[in-house]
Amino acid sequence: MSDTKILTLWKGDKLDEKAAEILRASCKDVTIPLDEEGEKDIAALLEAFLARDDALGLAAPQIGLTKRIVVFRNKGFDDKDKWTKSESDCGVLVNPRITQARGEKVIMAEGCLSCPDIQVEIERFGEIKVRGYNAQGQKVNKRYTDFLARIVQHELDHLEGKLIIDYDGTIYVSQKKQRFFQCLFQNS
Ligand SMILES: [Zn+2]
Repeated sequence: MSDTKILTLWKGDKLDEKAAEILRASCKDVTIPLDEEGEKDIAALLEAFLARDDALGLAAPQIGLTKRIVVFRNKGFDDKDKWTKSESDCGVLVNPRITQARGEKVIMAEGCLSCPDIQVEIERFGEIKVRGYNAQGQKVNKRYTDFLARIVQHELDHLEGKLIIDYDGTIYVSQKKQRFFQCLFQNS
């Protein structure tokens, strides 16, 4: 079991400046062909992701690596009981770039492990095409639709330092956190 810490933008009622610096960074491309460091980083992200049962996706900056790597569940989103620890149920993208976005935009509330206790309604494309590399460093061209397209767009945002609180959709917060978020958004 991995005990990799997931960076959060705030802890309790305090912004975490150090975490923010990493979460807000624009991530760097991984060297292709993959070298030892790249392989190590991909393995670390995959391990941190598979160790959790509350994540649909995870981006490298969330574990402190400002590299362009994301991992996400690619099936069975609705039924956590069916989530396996198998790598074949995960998608890994290295140096991903969206090459095409289309379809009707869909609005849905999203949460993020790095922004605890808050959900934001975000409009996302229903279909995207992504170019990048897989966990073995082979070139891939992928097409994602519906909910999976949403997850991938969310994770790719992380690589640009963009978080759910940067969208101006309706925000949902718990009562006890309301005052904290009011201050946070006034200052940003
Ligand atoms: Zn996130």
